[in-house]
Amino acid sequence: MRFGICTLDDFDLEGKTVLCRVDINQPIDRKTGTLKDLTRIKGCLPTLKELSDRKAKTVLLAHQGGDLEYKNYFTTAPHAKVLSELMDREVLFVDDVTGPTAREMIKNLKNGEILLLDNVRFVAEEMTLFETKINLTPEEQSKTQVVQKLAPLADLYVCDAFAAAHRSQPTLVGFEQLLPSAMGRLFEEEFCVISGVMEKPERPCLFILGGAKIQDAFMMMNTVLSDGVADRVITGGLVSHIMLLAKGIDIGKQSTDLIHKMNLFEYVKVAKNILDQFEDKILLPVDLAYANDSRHEVALDNLPDDELLVDIGSATIEIFKNAIEQAKTIFINGPMGVFENELSEKGTKAVWEAVAESNAYSVIGGGDSITAVNKYKVEDKVSYICTGGGALVRFLTGEELPVVKALRHAANQYGCERVK
Ligand code: ADP
Ligand code: MG
Repeated sequence: MRFGICTLDDFDLEGKTVLCRVDINQPIDRKTGTLKDLTRIKGCLPTLKELSDRKAKTVLLAHQGGDLEYKNYFTTAPHAKVLSELMDREVLFVDDVTGPTAREMIKNLKNGEILLLDNVRFVAEEMTLFETKINLTPEEQSKTQVVQKLAPLADLYVCDAFAAAHRSQPTLVGFEQLLPSAMGRLFEEEFCVISGVMEKPERPCLFILGGAKIQDAFMMMNTVLSDGVADRVITGGLVSHIMLLAKGIDIGKQSTDLIHKMNLFEYVKVAKNILDQFEDKILLPVDLAYANDSRHEVALDNLPDDELLVDIGSATIEIFKNAIEQAKTIFINGPMGVFENELSEKGTKAVWEAVAESNAYSVIGGGDSITAVNKYKVEDKVSYICTGGGALVRFLTGEELPVVKALRHAANQYGCERVK
C-alpha cells in the first residue's frame, strides 16, 4: 500500500484473472494502422511483464482516440501486435469488448497469458461519459455494461493508466466499486515522482505552459502560483495569446477570432485575474511569428490582422532560455507553437533543447509535448517524461484525481490482501 492505494506487491497473482486498464492511446495512421508514438506502450511494459511473469491471466483494457476528434478513433488490434513485439511474447487480441466472444476468451486464458480487448470506447458508455457529457457517480459507473459483464470474470482490477487518471469513465472508476484494486507500476512511479517534486521542488521552480488546453493551463497556473510551488511561469502557444489579450495587447484579427471560435474568450478574464496577482512572476512573449511562404517574426505592437500567430519569436526565445538556465526544477506542459510545421517549430524546439541542456530536474507531460520530446531527440536529457498531460496538470492543481479516489475507495472497501 502506498498513498492509500494497493500496489502489485499486495496481491498474490498466480492463476488470478486481472483486468488491467492501460493508456496506450496515441496518434495513429488510420490508413495503415501504424502507431506513431510508442512512449505510452513502452511505459506499461513493466506492469504487463510482471503480471505475466507472476502467472496472472491478464485482460487488457485500453482506448484509442474518440469520436470527439475521430481521426485517431481506431481498433486496438495494431497495439496487440506492437505489444507482442516489444514484450517478446504473444499478446492475444479479440475484436470485442464485452460480448460473448471476449468473455469466452477471458474464461479460457491460461496462467501468464495476456489478452487485449478492442477499443473500450467502442462501447457507448465509455464515450458518452467522456468528460462533461453526463456525470455519473462511481456507483452508477459500476452498473454500466462493461463493468457488469467483465467484473464477474475477474479477481482483481489494476489501473496503470495514469495518463487517464483525470477521467471519470466506466473502465477507469467503475471496477473499483466491485473488485479489489491496485495501481500498476507505471501509475505508481508517476504518482511518486510527481508528488515528490511537488512537495519539495528545488528553487527556483519554473512552469512552462503552452499548447491549447486552456482551462487546464489556467487552473494549474493559478494553483501553483497561489500555493507558491511555482516561482516563475513561462507562457507560449494559445495560453500566451490569452494572456496577451488580458494585458490589452491586440493579437490581430485572425488570432483573436480563433480564440472566439474555440470558445476560449471567457479565459481572458481568468488570465487578467492571474496577472493582477502575479504579474511579476509571469513571462509573456515579446514577439510572435506567423508563417505563410516563409516565417516572419513581429514585435507585439505590430501583430498582423490577416495572419494566424503560430509561434513565439526569437527575442522571446532568448528571454525564455535565460529563465530556463536559472531554474532548478522545471515542469512543462504544452508546446510554444504549432511545432508540427517546420515554419512554426522554432520556439518549441529551442525551449525543449534549452530544458534538455539545463541541470534542472525537469518533468514533461502531455501527448503533444512528448511528441516534441521525441521529435527533437531530447528524451534522454529530460529528467522525467510523464505519460499524462491532462492527468499531470490536474494533479498539479491539487485535485484528487477520479481514478486515485476510486482506487482508494477499493483499498478501504476490499483491503489490499483479499486476493492472496
Ligand atoms: P499537450 O498534448 O502536450 O498537453 P496541448 O494538447 O495542450 O499539449 O497543445 C498542443 C497543441 O497546441 C498542438 O497541436 C499545437 O499545434 C497547438 N498550438 C500550440 N501553439 C499554437 C498556436 N499559437 N496556435 C494554434 N495552435 C497552437
Ligand atoms: Mg494534446
